[in-house]
Amino acid sequence: MAAQLEQALAKLKTTGVRMTPQRHAILSFLLDSMTHPTADDIYKSLESKFPNMSVATVYNNLKVFIESGLVRELTYGDSSSRFDADMTDHYHAVCEVCGKIADFEYPPLHDIEITAAGQTGFQVSAYRLEVYGVCPGCTGITKH
Ligand SMILES: [Zn+2]
Ligand SMILES: [Zn+2]
Repeated sequence: MAAQLEQALAKLKTTGVRMTPQRHAILSFLLDSMTHPTADDIYKSLESKFPNMSVATVYNNLKVFIESGLVRELTYGDSSSRFDADMTDHYHAVCEVCGKIADFEYPPLHDIEITAAGQTGFQVSAYRLEVYGVCPGCTGITKH
């Protein structure tokens, strides 16, 4: 993921965002993480490295990344948002037990956009598709 981090850092530079050690650590943690962590997860993982960092700092940095187009926020009603630093087109499988999110690839669903536009008159700009179930860690089956 090193190349991705370099790219992200270069992009931040062009937007004039100042890089701090914490900001760097949060971004690289997100890029390495495959589980789409919550702000709390990020805070807990980095708190030993940055004892002075608060959850609010994590949130503020995430906001900067979202505004810079580097991170996507995934909202789930009342439960905590999760954050994804993979901005490529992909879909999510959500674990109903632990809340972890896994990525999967599938061709773009243009049919859905066309059908939705036809039936509602909307100009469709985006769509979000997720599957729900129990992840391998929670079913006890470890996939290798
Ligand atoms: Zn799970
Ligand atoms: Zn994702």
